[in-house]
Amino acid sequence: MSVSGSTLLAGVMGWPISHSLSPLLHGYWLREHNIDGVYVPLPVAPSNLEHGLRALPRVGFRGVNLTVPHKEAALSMMDTVSDVARRIGAINTVFVSDDGSLSGTNTDAHGFIENLRLNAPTWQKNGGAAVVLGAGGAARAVVAALIDAQVSEVFLLNRTVEKAEQLAQAIGGPIKVVNWDDRDEAIGNAMLLVNATTLGMVNQPKLEVSLSALPKMAIVNDLVYAPLETELLRTARQMGMQTVDGLGMLLHQAVPGFEGWFGKRPDVTDGLRNVVLKTT
Ligand code: NAP
Repeated sequence: MSVSGSTLLAGVMGWPISHSLSPLLHGYWLREHNIDGVYVPLPVAPSNLEHGLRALPRVGFRGVNLTVPHKEAALSMMDTVSDVARRIGAINTVFVSDDGSLSGTNTDAHGFIENLRLNAPTWQKNGGAAVVLGAGGAARAVVAALIDAQVSEVFLLNRTVEKAEQLAQAIGGPIKVVNWDDRDEAIGNAMLLVNATTLGMVNQPKLEVSLSALPKMAIVNDLVYAPLETELLRTARQMGMQTVDGLGMLLHQAVPGFEGWFGKRPDVTDGLRNVVLKTT
């Protein structure tokens, strides 16, 4: 890789940042498209976030991704914030405009729905309700995406029911909060089940849910991507249901940022998946 005075600059701010997969996947696309650009990890402590963001136009950056713990704090540091980011309550992508102003958006909802659309083309958004497990940052993006896709009804279940109620209020639309303990029954008649909790991740407890009431035509999507095939997905597959893993969402959410900074809309390919999989 050679860097010149005209090299396009972007990166990811987090604290810590060494775990981020974003440099790997943006680096893959930069090489694939032979773009004179770099995408670098930027370790930025929370107390330096505003200075770091305001420095971007001054040092010639086109923008950045934001990861833990900056996504919520950055909302008040932007000049403009997209509607979807405001509803989700978090920013993961920042663009520097020609006049040096900062605009923030959230591409997780886009990543979720693109992944579902491409990997479960039979999913009929009006063909039945969706059940979402979880009420953290990922669940907010999922619920916003489902409401924007005009799903008839979203049943939302979270261990801490108050968080589910707050989420439903913030996003608005046909969202019904159901008690966590009632999840086995709640999934009856759902055409889509999404796990947006951390349950089933490596080093986390397993997700205890029975799929016996879930229609065989339903699609099961786990946002967890480490491991790639969670116990939830394995059980659903063995029961003959269509499954969608979490890696696709991670890759698709990166597309709008890359296009905005580097001027080329990249594809999510098996080659990219394989490169990222080797490191997860
Ligand atoms: P988060 O904000 O920390 O939320 C964690 C969620 O898990 C909360 O709903 C929490 O419930 C629930 N939870 C944790 N431990 C639990 C337990 N023992 N029993 C029941 N529920 C439990 O995390 P997040 O950022 O939303 O991420 C959630 C998952 O999505 C993670 O696995 C993450 O890797 C994945 N993710 C994937 C993508 C992707 O692109 N594929 C993107 C973002 C996130 P309480 O509210 O009751 O604590």
